[in-house]
Amino acid sequence: MSKPKVAFFEFTSCEGCQLTVVDSLQTNVELLDAIEIVQFREAMSEKGQDYQIAFIEGSCTRPSDEAVIKRIREQADIVVALGSCADLGGINAIRNYQDLDDVRHYVYGDKADWYETYPARPISAVVPVDAAIPGCPIDRNEFIAAVKEVLQGRMPQIPDYPLCIECKLKGNVCVYLRGKTCLGPITRAGCDAICPTYGDSCEGCRGMVSSPNLEYMRIVLEEHGLDFEEARAKMTMFLNYQMMELEQEAANDNAKA
Ligand code: SF4
Ligand code: SF4
Ligand code: SF4
Repeated sequence: MSKPKVAFFEFTSCEGCQLTVVDSLQTNVELLDAIEIVQFREAMSEKGQDYQIAFIEGSCTRPSDEAVIKRIREQADIVVALGSCADLGGINAIRNYQDLDDVRHYVYGDKADWYETYPARPISAVVPVDAAIPGCPIDRNEFIAAVKEVLQGRMPQIPDYPLCIECKLKGNVCVYLRGKTCLGPITRAGCDAICPTYGDSCEGCRGMVSSPNLEYMRIVLEEHGLDFEEARAKMTMFLNYQMMELEQEAANDNAKA
């Protein structure tokens, strides 16, 4: 029986998620017997175009990305967004609040006109995505578990409850009690609450849960004498695309009311 053919692609990203894939495969070599990797620029030169499973890292940030992403979708039976750039727009979407001409000139100076760009978007804004592995970078164990699920014909299930639950179960002292804001109440669990475990705030790299309770987070922050606007500023790191969508939906609802 032929092995499922797998390809990896990257758009605007730092390639850190692909490096995590390489790293995780080194200690799970049995997976390499179960699949055939036909394209993976980070690790090999071949560029096979016949594949059933596509992992896409990175955000869509240019009009020309769209045709390539659509071709991948047409070829692959299963498309998985790899990491927060692909899943959420991620840190690339920080710029979505800025004037894009200013951004281009800031980065490329007098060569700005050479580079096309538009607001950064997750892959799911261009084509339907079957599954996502969140995080910046992805969690190596979650990636391996996801590949095994896909090979068994199931879609990977990622937690859809807030990080605070995981954090509390670990017995961590909440950083709110030390005067720090933290995005745990709205962030998708699954990273073992690693940042609060080491005394740092969650920056939301795994994205928001599907029904984030922003209003309750505001209340809890205020109860601790903390400022929601500081938390909102923190959301620009990974959650800008999602927040702008939510704010646009709220503005549309207000306009209708
Ligand atoms: S999600 Fe993070 S680690 Fe992965 S490609 Fe994007 S910036 Fe790099
Ligand atoms: S430290 Fe963050 S994740 Fe942990 S309980 Fe407090 S708000 Fe939630
Ligand atoms: S605690 Fe938050 S920022 Fe840290 S890895 Fe988990 S989701 Fe990402």
